[in-house]
Amino acid sequence: MSLFDRLVVSSIPFIPRVLVHRIARRYVAGETLDDAIATVRSLAAEGAMSTLDVLGESVTRAEQTEAARDEYLRAIDAMAKSGLPVNTSVKPTALGLSIDPDLARRNLTDICRKAAERGIFVRLDMEDSPYTEKTLRLALDLKAEFGNVGVVLQAYLRRSLSDLDRLVAAGMNVRICKGIYRESREIAWKDHDVIVRNFAALVDKHLAAGCYAAIATHDEACVQNALATIDRLKLPPSAYEFQMLLGVDPLLRRILLGSGHRLRVYVPYGRDWYAYSTRRLKENPSISRHILNATLGFGPKSS
Ligand SMILES: Cc1cc2nc3c(=O)[nH]c(=O)nc-3n(C[C@H](O)[C@H](O)[C@H](O)COP(=O)(O)OP(=O)(O)OC[C@H]3O[C@@H](n4cnc5c(N)ncnc54)[C@H](O)[C@@H]3O)c2cc1C
Repeated sequence: MSLFDRLVVSSIPFIPRVLVHRIARRYVAGETLDDAIATVRSLAAEGAMSTLDVLGESVTRAEQTEAARDEYLRAIDAMAKSGLPVNTSVKPTALGLSIDPDLARRNLTDICRKAAERGIFVRLDMEDSPYTEKTLRLALDLKAEFGNVGVVLQAYLRRSLSDLDRLVAAGMNVRICKGIYRESREIAWKDHDVIVRNFAALVDKHLAAGCYAAIATHDEACVQNALATIDRLKLPPSAYEFQMLLGVDPLLRRILLGSGHRLRVYVPYGRDWYAYSTRRLKENPSISRHILNATLGFGPKSS
């Protein structure tokens, strides 16, 4: 971490809440499900699909995980009723994975069952490395039971390329991203170019095996590598999708949509926007850079 990043991260607790709110507005749809559906509707008008994430990650009690589950069940009903192109992303720890794996499994089973009944796809987000194996196992079991389940692999993890074998064998829809958590060099690549190459290798291997890939990045190098693979394999747009975070690089979003690719925006919503925003800042100082730039008025690249 550079001195500048360290400075930004250590000053996060002193950033006034009202300022964090201003910053968060760009990256979070709002506090309520209605806010989230309104954002999904406006993205759909642009031609983009969405995936809804209910904010609320740091849980310590079973009741909190049940509240999160109930909000997901409500969101699934609203998504199905809306008829909009939207699915959902869930963080296994928000459903109890850090408290008790059986609790997480029960909550996720309820969510996947309801989603299957309503024709909604559920993706298990990938969190930090203590949860990698548990999340992959949960995703494989839930996919075997309900069908409508996908997972995420992080290109910075040294294990991901071999993890992909199990997922390919199950015909799993996999989101490929770089990975956002701080991991040790023992298990994760640190060099940007190596991570970009591993990202390309994962996309290539998954698509070449005939599986559906969600290519989640704002990095033009990763996008270009994926486009080269798509071109080489002569894949139709129905074989993959790009994914981007709400509020990040809307110009790249429009470029990809304008070229006929499918693209889905990750739309977080919920009352826990403050914890989400400050946690994101602490976890990834490079985000604090983007945010500091935006706050100072330079803004992320876009429009
Ligand atoms: C849809 C989606 C789902 C994700 N799911 C997961 C997950 O389940 N697990 C996980 O560990 N990680 C997840 N991530 C995060 C991902 O792992 C990366 O940390 C993040 O996308 C940044 O990597 P990048 O490929 O965009 O490249 P970078 O090189 O980091 O970014 C490229 C450019 O995009 C812009 N940018 C990137 N991120 C931001 C930001 N937050 N705010 C403002 N500008 C930004 C900057 O201009 C930057 O120069 C997800 C990302 C996306 C897009």
